[in-house]
Amino acid sequence: MCGHLDIREKFERGFNVCPECGDHRRISAEEYIELLTDEGTWRELYTHLRATDPLNFEHYPERITAAIKKAGPADALYAGTARIEGMPYNLGVMNFAFMGGSMGSVVGEKIARLARRSTDKRQPLVLVCTSGGARMQEGVLSLMQMAKTSAMLAQLREDAIPYITILTNPTTGGVSASFAMQGDVILAEPGAVIGFAGQRVIKQTIGQDLPAGFQTAEFLLEHGQVDDVVPRASLRETTARLLRHMSGQRVREETVEYA
Ligand SMILES: [Zn+2]
Repeated sequence: MCGHLDIREKFERGFNVCPECGDHRRISAEEYIELLTDEGTWRELYTHLRATDPLNFEHYPERITAAIKKAGPADALYAGTARIEGMPYNLGVMNFAFMGGSMGSVVGEKIARLARRSTDKRQPLVLVCTSGGARMQEGVLSLMQMAKTSAMLAQLREDAIPYITILTNPTTGGVSASFAMQGDVILAEPGAVIGFAGQRVIKQTIGQDLPAGFQTAEFLLEHGQVDDVVPRASLRETTARLLRHMSGQRVREETVEYA
């Protein structure tokens, strides 16, 4: 954060990354879809899934209605299929604009279906994560999504289908404690906050000060919990290269660089 407010144009050209200090500001879920798919190949799936209110939680239906109005009907995750550098794959992108990217039954169900589709079609799966945690209005049903998605993703592993997660700011709570951390490769954006509980809670619980940079992407890379920190400008190329490599595919002619 260097306070460069006067270079909006450069920010926009650079995927909302500050050209001076490299600060990664949030981009929308829709922009991640654009960034990670070949033009015209994205097809959204499972669009009819909607959150219900099984616990009769106070004001939940109203909150859902307001969230749909604000962020669209896809709940907190867009699920779909697309191509990246010509390779077919399945993509899920969490939407922080929808109730803080909270994980409820719809998010869990979409991920489970995407994982099953990936197994059936033998196509890789990529999930772009951002979340404030479980959706408290769905109580234990929300927590159950951690187990459900984990079971489906375990099947991917068994069938040797590549699964990559991309952790963006912030990736916390139940999402960080389940599918976000189960990728064969776990990538994170620079400066992203990644962790289970908030720093204040941890500090109070363990009664100790926390190290500098705790719960940042860079800290987790240093401590072996993520595989790489990738600037947004390289995200597309890195993801495509990994998928190609993990699927055992040859590099396409036009992408080969000759010295
Ligand atoms: Zn800056």
